Amino acid sequence: MKSAIQFGSKQIDFNLEYSNRKTLGITVKPDLSVLVKAPVDTTLEKVEEKLRKKASWIIRQKSFFLTFYPKTPAKKYVGGETHLYLGRQYQLKVKSEKFKVINEEVKLKGRFLEIITNDKNNVKKLVEEWYLVKAKSKFYEIALPLFEKFVKTHNLSLLTFHLSLRSMPTRWGSCTPKGKIILNPELIKAPKGCIEYVIIHELCHLVHHDHNQRFIDLQTKEMKDWEKWKMKLEKLLA
Ligand SMILES: [Zn+2]
Repeated sequence: MKSAIQFGSKQIDFNLEYSNRKTLGITVKPDLSVLVKAPVDTTLEKVEEKLRKKASWIIRQKSFFLTFYPKTPAKKYVGGETHLYLGRQYQLKVKSEKFKVINEEVKLKGRFLEIITNDKNNVKKLVEEWYLVKAKSKFYEIALPLFEKFVKTHNLSLLTFHLSLRSMPTRWGSCTPKGKIILNPELIKAPKGCIEYVIIHELCHLVHHDHNQRFIDLQTKEMKDWEKWKMKLEKLLA
């Protein structure tokens, strides 16, 4: 059953499921949906009361998942359209020369992202390839010094630096126990500080697995203003 409560200016939608259980449980899922599991005899009033009590926690959970939720509006890849790179807006400028064989190319020129192509239908592919190449080199450049500093501080020098890119629909990054950092290439659209925040967040998971207080404390020690960058990331690409 679908329902909603109002909490301040925010509406919290939730799915209610009755089951053979003794207590009421609330879960916020990575897709930002809220699931309430309640014992069969619970009234809707009781459910709503419990949700109101937990509302700020629910909002916090949602905003946390939102950080790892890349969602960019569909682009058309035509001249004049703006595209983000390292937090800055660039306007697409498409130079298409139909009857001449030219080398296809993408380059930053002032506040323009210039695409030279034989075929306008190639623009999307060329821009995507350009982003990927940029993501690989920039992420490496940003992550390597952060990794080296982190493993030194935390006596993790057995770990070797390994970075890879993977498109993930609901996450910005992840980290394996062996220290391999996996980043979402979409991050290249965000400012450097946001990229650093995601990398530092993942590095902190090498010490603490969960997002408990000790994890938060460590993250704050490693990056004082992480909250600012987290918010920027949410706003920019949400
Ligand atoms: Zn995490």
